[in-house]
Amino acid sequence: MRPYNRVYATVNLDAVADNMKEMAGNLPSGTGMIGVVKADGYGHGAVPVAMTVDPYVRGFAVATVEEGVILRRHGVGKMILILGVTHPDQYGELIRYQIRPTVFTLRQAERLSELACREGVRAKLHLAVDTGMSRIGMEPDEASADMVLSMSRLPGIEIEGMFTHFARADERDKESARAQLAAYLNFSEMLKRRGIEIPLKHCSNSAGIVEGLPSNSLDLVRAGISIYGLYPSDEVDRETVHLTPAMELKSRISYIKTIRPGTPVSYGGTFVAGRPTRIATIPVGYGDGYPRSLSSRGSVLIRGRRAPILGRVCMDQFMVDVTDIPEAEEEDEVTLIGRDGGEQISVEELARLGGGFHYELICDLGKRVPRVYL
Ligand code: PLP
Repeated sequence: MRPYNRVYATVNLDAVADNMKEMAGNLPSGTGMIGVVKADGYGHGAVPVAMTVDPYVRGFAVATVEEGVILRRHGVGKMILILGVTHPDQYGELIRYQIRPTVFTLRQAERLSELACREGVRAKLHLAVDTGMSRIGMEPDEASADMVLSMSRLPGIEIEGMFTHFARADERDKESARAQLAAYLNFSEMLKRRGIEIPLKHCSNSAGIVEGLPSNSLDLVRAGISIYGLYPSDEVDRETVHLTPAMELKSRISYIKTIRPGTPVSYGGTFVAGRPTRIATIPVGYGDGYPRSLSSRGSVLIRGRRAPILGRVCMDQFMVDVTDIPEAEEEDEVTLIGRDGGEQISVEELARLGGGFHYELICDLGKRVPRVYL
């Protein structure tokens, strides 16, 4: 029997591997994958996820130098790309760990090149092109193409790849994604006319992969949320690539009692019992990343049945109604996310009920929730 855990998240690594196979099956044979494991693998644990997806990917993407260094220290040898801006103060660390920064100004490239030359190496980098996010990246125009030409002459750097990021590929209407891809490809042509061939071009995110966008025919695609078995939105096709959610969130009932009609429950007394009510206390709260916005809205599964949340979710505990589950006992398993019998609570359902976002919910799952790898 598993040792007592107040709350724990199971991460099914077989599901992660299955998701990679499903995606690979929907890609042209020459296209490689980048596994996006930023934010500690979207809350699932970057290292175990990276080890699992390693056979299926050409490299990894993270958001910070620190995230990249953790992967290297755990033996990841493949390409690691930082998707955001890296401060020049951290270029030394990048070079030491052979982590690729995203670069889009001449100043960034020059500083990287200077440092790399001093270290006697050539630093690989990826260029970011802003085709519609207005976040980071160079404009896809002739002036930027001239700038890339100047970059390409710097002695300490090597342009390994170039990417753009879709703002709306998860929407039913693909017009915006198509326009972004066209701008990206047009910019690639401008570079080609200057004699610059980019070895690794990549645009697709999970939405692009599951929807089979034409950008899947480039050198690489970047798989994020889909690794973890979630679809980027309700609007994307679920028929072609079958994803299995990797994470479940479990706890146990810590206490049960029956309260009289008229008794308020939790902070603010927002729920008042209208009948004799058997309530179970669940030792989980927003301090674990379980959203407070689920107060009086969400439910959990106990013995394969739904028990609705009564009143406000506290930092470390909340109460549910088990009046209609008379067999429920203290210590019973509680499923906050996942399956129990024929019932299921998905991350998407919780995010919707709480007015949140499914990506955010998994990323926000607290550090004090142990991850148990299956
Ligand atoms: N590429 C970039 C540049 C990103 O910022 C992200 C996620 O934020 C991804 C890829 C992965 O996106 P998704 O999780 O939707 O696949």
